[in-house]
Amino acid sequence: MSEDKPHQNLAIIGHVDHGKSTLVGRLLFETGSVPEHVIEQHREEAEEKGKGGFEFAYVMDNLAEERERGVTIDIAHQQFDTDKYYFTIVDCPGHRDFVKNMITGASQADNAVLVVAADDGVAPQTREHVFLARTLGINELIIGVNKMDVVDYSEDTYKEVKEQVSNLLKQVRFKSDDATFIPISAFEGDNIAEDSENTPWYDGPNLVEALNDLPEVEPPTDAPLRLPIQDVYTISGIGTVPVGRVETGVLETGANVSFQPSDVGGEVKTVEMHHEEVPRAEPGDNVGFNVRGIGKDDIRRGDVCGPADDPPKVAETFKAQLVVMQHPSVITAGYTPVFHAHTAQVACTIESIDQKLDPKSGEVAEENPDFIKSGDAAVVTVRPQKPLSIEPSGEIPELGSFAVRDMGQTIAAGKVLEVNER
Ligand code: GDP
Repeated sequence: MSEDKPHQNLAIIGHVDHGKSTLVGRLLFETGSVPEHVIEQHREEAEEKGKGGFEFAYVMDNLAEERERGVTIDIAHQQFDTDKYYFTIVDCPGHRDFVKNMITGASQADNAVLVVAADDGVAPQTREHVFLARTLGINELIIGVNKMDVVDYSEDTYKEVKEQVSNLLKQVRFKSDDATFIPISAFEGDNIAEDSENTPWYDGPNLVEALNDLPEVEPPTDAPLRLPIQDVYTISGIGTVPVGRVETGVLETGANVSFQPSDVGGEVKTVEMHHEEVPRAEPGDNVGFNVRGIGKDDIRRGDVCGPADDPPKVAETFKAQLVVMQHPSVITAGYTPVFHAHTAQVACTIESIDQKLDPKSGEVAEENPDFIKSGDAAVVTVRPQKPLSIEPSGEIPELGSFAVRDMGQTIAAGKVLEVNER
């Protein structure tokens, strides 16, 4: 597998049981990305049990079993490549914090595969994930109409599901020209890496071809540096080492940086990636670095590192557009749930609900409504109860979205329209 190819973060989204995990297993298998020793082990097991030639089932069993045991090898963060790209599967719904991760950028995907089971069609999470994909700026959607084997590879059923999904994309105003539809069976391997004989009526690309045809992603290297801090370590011989992922811009040794909202700064002495010192790090790179004069107690998780002359913004209040995904009652002014943005978690008060929006057209439906409830979209004014660094999504989208959590659930998601700085 070559890391020299351009990289893409890919999300696999769709309703529970529509076949996301099976598809990931199948993609890894068909692209030869399951390590040889794992295949070999499965081959031996399969032969012992007299089931030779059934390696795929064993790969899947293994993934499933490891998930049950809570082992780190989950379907998330698996990697595979096509001729052109090197893909990382950033996260997968079903993963407990998927929705939150998707929103807070912990698993920012460039593009997504939406899995829709042919025998079930558009289901509630299909809607929710498509909506999030659109709100959070997923560029392109490939739709795998899955389980075609279950519907006897019926062209009519495929067309029906395609129609349902197209309507959904229109409703949420996802440019539906951007979507590629493919009839697949993750389980049987139809139209994954090879064109299937079971769908002679389909003449579009198979899934691997469609992934290979995705447009290249331009990393946001020209934007100002924004590096949310994930953790802060003390390492003997080096000192204080904040770690995190560069979201935008470039981190270079010798640069003067500022951490906000802690409001401290200094010169970058060293940058490390994969245990090696590097002169610079770019968007997507996970780094540990060391800044002259910064001690372990000066900075914390949730701080954002940026250039000293263009520091991360700290909000006194901010205006945001949000969508209420699920809330048992109604949300009124004064409500103070926890906002998750990049690596920060801060209680924030919804100070006023300024406008209710029509969820379909995005136009203003009501000024100063008394409350909003599940399914509503609104413009609100938010006051963080502790300093929070956040950016307008129009300027730095990577640092401009948030998830609202309460009672252990993601109840709303949104993006920042304006920051009123402290
Ligand atoms: P997820 O919840 O979306 O990750 O769905 P899974 O990948 O766990 O699949 C749910 C169930 O559907 C499992 O029993 C799979 O074996 C089955 N399944 C997935 N894809 C296919 C397919 O293409 N054809 C058939 N017949 N079953 C499938």
